Amino acid sequence: MRERLSNEIIRFVQEEPGNRFPGSDQLYFDDPLIGVVSADDPLFQQYKQIIGPFHCTPREFLPNAASVISWVLPITRTTRESNRKQITKPSLEWAQTRSFGDDFIMELRRHLVAWLQQQGYAAVAPLLEPGYQRFVDTPVGLASSWSERHVAYAAGLGTFSLNDGLITPRGIAHRLGSVVTDLALEPTITDRPHYQHNCLHYRNDSCKACITRCPADAISIAGHDKKRCDAYLYTALTLELAGPYGTPIPGCGLCQTKVPCEQQIPR
Ligand code: SF4
Ligand code: SF4
Repeated sequence: MRERLSNEIIRFVQEEPGNRFPGSDQLYFDDPLIGVVSADDPLFQQYKQIIGPFHCTPREFLPNAASVISWVLPITRTTRESNRKQITKPSLEWAQTRSFGDDFIMELRRHLVAWLQQQGYAAVAPLLEPGYQRFVDTPVGLASSWSERHVAYAAGLGTFSLNDGLITPRGIAHRLGSVVTDLALEPTITDRPHYQHNCLHYRNDSCKACITRCPADAISIAGHDKKRCDAYLYTALTLELAGPYGTPIPGCGLCQTKVPCEQQIPR
């Protein structure tokens, strides 16, 4: 069943018109990486201490949850290359991927929930549930009640980085999603690497390329200043670019491109 499910996600990503730039055949996202983690995994309880008590477990969204399916959608090379050239703001392709690519990921969540239900299983996408809280104010900045990054780490898809991203085998330039179901699937991994293993700064005190890429001084060896990043992203850049680009949330992603972890786990 895990293989059928993966094939369905891949088919949807390859074939759906929503995964294409307006008026073009160019894709927002390449084929996904897919992981599965048990709803019983102790990490979900630990996240209540690590992230905050507001962060939900799978069973808070689906009481008889058995598995969580998580996916990584790598941003295509053309879009990443366009953003590598940028110094202070994202390229148009990056901004379109951030705004309209996210709409496609919402479609993928809805599709996967419906597909699982057709197979006779209960399923929910936490980000589509009424109980989901997108913006929870915390002392270190905004957080949500279901972090797709933390879920992807739990499913063995990557590890965290100096700039607060998730470095996966397909790099750090991606968007994430997940669905919770009562279908019991075998988890994809049993042994996760250290939660910061894939980032060179944490692995051997090298790199730090993302620090100099950030136009908002939001990254330092102390980590990612979420408040500063959010202010740049959701205020300055959005005010400047949403109109001319026609993208409600242009994003930024400069620290995810032209860096050694852009498209791979750096060696
Ligand atoms: S650019 Fe270097 S230091 Fe920054 S997240 Fe990537 S690997 Fe880590
Ligand atoms: S997304 Fe942009 S503002 Fe935020 S940390 Fe990365 S480079 Fe800096």
